[in-house]
Formats: sequence, structure tokens, C-alpha cells
Amino acid sequence: MSNSPLTVSELFYSIQGESTRAGLPCAFVRLSGCNLRCRYCDSHYTWEEPGRETTLTEILGWVEKYPEVPVELTGGEPLLQDGIYPLMRELAARGRTVLLETNGSLSIGRVPEAVTVILDLKCPDSGMENMIDWTNIGRLAQRRKNGCRDEIKFVLSSERDYAWAREVIAGYGLADLAALLLSPADKLMAPSRLAELMLADRSPARLQLQLHRIIWPARERGV
Ligand code: SF4
Repeated sequence: MSNSPLTVSELFYSIQGESTRAGLPCAFVRLSGCNLRCRYCDSHYTWEEPGRETTLTEILGWVEKYPEVPVELTGGEPLLQDGIYPLMRELAARGRTVLLETNGSLSIGRVPEAVTVILDLKCPDSGMENMIDWTNIGRLAQRRKNGCRDEIKFVLSSERDYAWAREVIAGYGLADLAALLLSPADKLMAPSRLAELMLADRSPARLQLQLHRIIWPARERGV
């Protein structure tokens, strides 16, 4: 097992807020660095601060303190660091449920099938739509055929974003590939308006609120 260090922003134990597993306790490994600059980013510190070099052994040792819960690998953008691959493999080999949250700009081709991918598709009002790696849709389709249960998330800043997400979902047949999550960006789109739109459209997606922000509205880190 390679023990080359990863640059970690924070390790924390909290409530899973942003996937189909929302509400479950979860061990989070948040890596530093991001190649995007979304307008609504609520974790600037992951790319503004240098982070701490942490060996695989240290990370695994910390995760072992919470043996019964899923492990979420997030960022920043976790796929920017090559050390994420031995970490994913090792966690999976230990029988852990592993979730990888990725911003959708990088290939998921090397992500083990034992790991659940939560892939963000960046909507136009994020300012990052042109960074999407659309070839990942084919990879999700192949993973689905192989039995993976991945998730696709859209963070919506506006009704324009909602309309875009609806077109993308229909155009690529995403409902057959992954669980779909529509999440209103904090203070930019009212959850009630998103609910109305989804109900009117008979959307195949799930409305997702950032549960950790509701529980701890004043906490910026460790949630
Ligand atoms: S991908 Fe995530 S961490 Fe990176 S800028 Fe966007 S919201 Fe922030």
C-alpha cells in the first residue's frame, strides 16, 4: 500500500447532508485544492488555505475510529490528488461504504466500482458549466451496467439552472443511470419554488436540502 501523503483540509465526523444517505452519521475526509471557482462555493478554505500533509496510514487510523459509518471523500476536488486512489481501494478492501463527491470536471474512469460516485453537474449559474467533463456520462452508464449505484447532483442557483438540469436529465436519460439530486443553492433559490417546479414537471429527481446547514447554520467547517 502506497503511503504517500494527501493534502487534507479537514477530517470530521458529522451528519451526511447531501446525498441519498442524508441524515446518516458519516466520517468525512475533506481534501484540499479545487480546480473550479463556483459562484456559490461555501468551502473556499479548501482552496484558499494550504491544508495539512497527512499520510494514508494517518487517515485510515482516523477513519477506524468510526467503524460503523460510511466514509465520504470530498473537497475541494478529491480527484486532483493521486493519493485518493490507494485510499479508495484500501477503504473498500476494509469493507467500508465509500462515497466520493466530485465536481464533474475530471474523469471518474479510475474510481473503483466499489465506491459510490456522487457527481456534480455544474449548472450555468455556477459559472463553471464549461468545465464539465461530459465523457463521464458514458462512464456512469458503464458503471450502472456493472451494478454501481451512483448519484448525480445539480446545485441550482436559479430557475434557469432548473430548466437546464431538466433538459440535461431528459437529454442524457440520466434517471436510468443514477439517483438524481436537485439542491437549491443557499439563499439563491427558494426550496419551495424548486418543489413547485419539480412537482409540476413530475421530476424523476429528489429534492435535496443541505441538511448540515439547517442543523448548524452558523458553522462553516466540520459539517
Ligand atoms: S467544486 Fe466545490 S469546492 Fe470547488 S469551487 Fe465549486 S463548490 Fe467550491
